[in-house]
Amino acid sequence: MAIDTPATIVILGAGPVAIETALYARFLGYEVRLIERGEIGQSMRQWGHVRMFSPFSMNSSPLGLSALAAQDSERSLPEKDAILTANEFLDQYLVPLATSDLLSGSILTQHEVIAVGRQQLLKREAVGSSQRSETGFEVLVRNHERHEQVIQADIVIDCTGTFDHTNHVGSSGIPAIGEFESRAQIEYRLPDILGNDRERYAAKQTLVIGSGYSAATNVCLLGKLAAESLETHATWITRGETSQDDQAEPSGPMSRIADDLLTERDHLAQQANYLASSDDAHVTHWSKTTIEKIHYDAQGDHFQVTLSGEHAGTHTFDRVIANVGYRPDLSLYRELQVHQCFASEGPMKLAAKLLGESSINCLDQTSHGAESLMTSEPNFYILGSKSYGRSSQFLISVGLDQIRELFSVIGDRAELNLYAPVVLPE
Ligand SMILES: Cc1cc2nc3c(=O)[nH]c(=O)nc-3n(C[C@H](O)[C@H](O)[C@H](O)COP(=O)(O)OP(=O)(O)OC[C@H]3O[C@@H](n4cnc5c(N)ncnc54)[C@H](O)[C@@H]3O)c2cc1C
Repeated sequence: MAIDTPATIVILGAGPVAIETALYARFLGYEVRLIERGEIGQSMRQWGHVRMFSPFSMNSSPLGLSALAAQDSERSLPEKDAILTANEFLDQYLVPLATSDLLSGSILTQHEVIAVGRQQLLKREAVGSSQRSETGFEVLVRNHERHEQVIQADIVIDCTGTFDHTNHVGSSGIPAIGEFESRAQIEYRLPDILGNDRERYAAKQTLVIGSGYSAATNVCLLGKLAAESLETHATWITRGETSQDDQAEPSGPMSRIADDLLTERDHLAQQANYLASSDDAHVTHWSKTTIEKIHYDAQGDHFQVTLSGEHAGTHTFDRVIANVGYRPDLSLYRELQVHQCFASEGPMKLAAKLLGESSINCLDQTSHGAESLMTSEPNFYILGSKSYGRSSQFLISVGLDQIRELFSVIGDRAELNLYAPVVLPE
């Protein structure tokens, strides 16, 4: 059933997908409120020094570009094929968009969403009844002074991503022994190894855990740091075998994607494999090795780490970087009736489509149609990286497809596409 303007849409988060969703909704005439726990693009700020692997044309929408041009015709925008760092993307595109006249009054930063519920309805009530779609939502938010308020909404779109919640380092997914106690000292994300965090890693022995692009990024940065600060060393452990792809020259922990169109990504995988397999004294790679125990010794400012597998034994490291993936925060919608996937923790319909895919190339991801975005809670949607649950295959370009498809359902206009190029009559 269409929800007509001027209904109120509350969007959780203010990352790239949330900002683009808000813009689309504002163009259609909806009342919009975005609620962000930090600043605009808070998750991306945490890896602001890292170069994105998708070009600017894939990370921006026609609507966003028009809104910026309308706001300031003198503004110079990045080239379509520019490969920006996350900070450059924020400075040159996302923040100007968020602070444009269309959106600036709609965003509440420094407010955390605590929970979403249905007005006057408990989770176990009105199961399968139209009563749920006829009732609005209540969103509990809290600011930094711990002041709480409830915001009402007709539609809620959760775009809070997954970056705030990391997986554990234990080989079965549970925390390794001692991990909880050492958590504050373990780095789970992407420190600015060549910039603000240089002193923390220079001339130190660092353990890097994981086989994804975040781990590869950190290993390459540590390799660069070692070229300047010779005592720097990284031990990189991965659970799997060293990849033996035909194309992978040299072979290493990163599976390279054949003819990868995202050249920056392929370059990263290649460079990380080179460091892992070469005789470079600054990087050692141990495959088929996992974490059993981890203990941070505050007096010595170092970790005792017990490993299992091919390199079983107890070792001392100054620093530990665990790039073991991210997971969605399910607590936000615990009071709603959202059916989620037992494997990925993504919303069920989309998760079922994604589970059927085997490609490791996120460029192969396309949107899966408007129907896959419907949840079992009417008028509650999950877009952006959170919609992929624990999968790391999400790209902003997929989020833009999701936005277009979702609003064709909300407005009940199958052909609605505000991103379509304008074709002038001959
Ligand atoms: C190192 C790295 C490189 C990447 N490179 C690329 C790339 O080149 N191209 C690409 O398309 N993707 C890339 N990605 C994936 C990228 O992170 C996502 O595509 C993009 O950030 C997803 O946007 P999002 O809006 O869904 O989520 P996010 O960017 O994670 O935004 C979520 C927002 O919600 C806020 N939030 C969270 N919880 C709450 C709460 N309870 N209350 C209020 N606010 C909350 C967060 O602070 C954040 O601002 C990369 C990821 C990493 C880690």
